[in-house]
Amino acid sequence: MLHSAHTGTAHTAHSAQDVVIIGAGIAGLAAAHHLTAAGVSVRVLEAAPHPGGRMSTELVDGFRLDRVGPLLSTAYPELLHTPALEGIALRMFSPGVLVRRNGRLHRAGTIDRTGLAGSASSSTSPGAAERSGATERRRLDLNPRTPRRAHRALTTARALASAPGRARQDRTAAPGDGAPGNVPARRAPRPDRPTHDALAASGLPASAVDGFVRPLLTALLGDPALSTSSHRADLALRAYARGRLCVPAGGASALPELLARTLPPGTVVTDVCVTEASINRVATKEHGEIACRSLLVATGARAAAELLPGLRVPDFHPVTVLHHTAPTAPSADPALVLDAETGGPVAHTAVMSAVDPSRTPEGRVLVSSTVLGTPPPARELDRLVRAQLAGVYGTPTDDWEVLAVHHTPEAVPAMPAPHDPHRPVRLLSGLYVCGDHRDTNTVQGALFSGRRAAHAVLRDLGVKAAHGTPPLSPAA
Ligand SMILES: Cc1cc2nc3c(=O)[nH]c(=O)nc-3n(C[C@H](O)[C@H](O)[C@H](O)COP(=O)(O)OP(=O)(O)OC[C@H]3O[C@@H](n4cnc5c(N)ncnc54)[C@H](O)[C@@H]3O)c2cc1C
Repeated sequence: MLHSAHTGTAHTAHSAQDVVIIGAGIAGLAAAHHLTAAGVSVRVLEAAPHPGGRMSTELVDGFRLDRVGPLLSTAYPELLHTPALEGIALRMFSPGVLVRRNGRLHRAGTIDRTGLAGSASSSTSPGAAERSGATERRRLDLNPRTPRRAHRALTTARALASAPGRARQDRTAAPGDGAPGNVPARRAPRPDRPTHDALAASGLPASAVDGFVRPLLTALLGDPALSTSSHRADLALRAYARGRLCVPAGGASALPELLARTLPPGTVVTDVCVTEASINRVATKEHGEIACRSLLVATGARAAAELLPGLRVPDFHPVTVLHHTAPTAPSADPALVLDAETGGPVAHTAVMSAVDPSRTPEGRVLVSSTVLGTPPPARELDRLVRAQLAGVYGTPTDDWEVLAVHHTPEAVPAMPAPHDPHRPVRLLSGLYVCGDHRDTNTVQGALFSGRRAAHAVLRDLGVKAAHGTPPLSPAA
């Protein structure tokens, strides 16, 4: 018998489904939504006791503590295109970021958007953000005192690489459409290369690179060495520039929980670990074999390669998230704070109780900080982080209490150059794979890979996608 994540009821293991999906992370859950919306029967098998995969939130003394530090952007298109997510509540960081440099915090990278809810602790749904942001012109303003230079810096940063694999069209001829010489010239795509090389060759002033672009990219890519593909970095900068940084209200797990809850009852079954996979059947540790017409492997990259030998196992970036509580809030600003000064392990930090008060018991303070790369041993890490946060927030941290330290050695798959942001999701007719390792190593990438895989399944089954499903377009 299988245990339903939705209702807690049991189901027989042996009724054949149209599609079995292995893994109830957000990629598998998104795919399940696109398939069930088209009328295809689906069962999602999840090894863990809960759906959600890496997007999990732990409850400690009334605090809701994310194992991940997912920085979402309201501009992630899949927040709109995934059924059920249109209504998800997001809590926004204050505009731009605060960067610590030369011992002071500077606001940087703010984008003035008339019409976008601008109050510091505002909350929105992705639909509202996109609607309000779609039509207006955006003024990029890295530093309010030097807006024109700042504008140029971020614009250049966004253009570090062109869109992957596509030549950009440039209207180079003089006005007068129709003249023979007035054909849009095609510019060759810029080479994909390590982001640190692209930054070095960008021509940006060192102050813009070191004081804003580098720490921002380090945070967005989860990659302190910036060895990630410059095309991938470009996507990250564009998502940053087009939206607002935000987190799901109540914790990262709110997103997969909403996806799982809104699938037909019995679709997601937990505590089922798949040990072997083929097109027509899967073998499970606990429940024997389960038959299907098609199989979609939606696990992380390593588990996918174990089930489907031949898939490549990428390198991974490790991430550690530390949660502290303090007697008083070190700041009331719900800002994402980046540290551009070397000498501490924390890449970014925020007073999460100001960003999303629903994560803490009434009146309590939560500060969450992210360390990228391999961290020092626990005791040393604690000492270094406290010292750094004292400098960042300008307040002693000796009396701060550690609530949790979550270390994930394989947090996100590395995406070095050359990076293909749309790796194949159809392996054979009847056998598919999705997950953040197929697209970009983000929530957006995982959700989009689920949609791409679902569309491939539907094409092979000869079933039309549900009415209103947007066409597939490149991931942000
Ligand atoms: C610390 C950290 C920080 C992050 N920061 C950000 C960020 O700031 N912004 C951002 O956009 N993204 C961030 N991410 C990445 C984002 O969380 C992931 O890209 C996304 O959650 C991946 O979803 P997925 O469905 O592809 O994979 P997963 O979430 O890994 O889901 C795979 C599921 O498959 C299940 N499974 C595996 N093997 C089996 C098996 N044999 N049988 C059954 N089930 C199985 C697993 O239990 C899991 O539930 C971060 C991730 C981490 C860990």
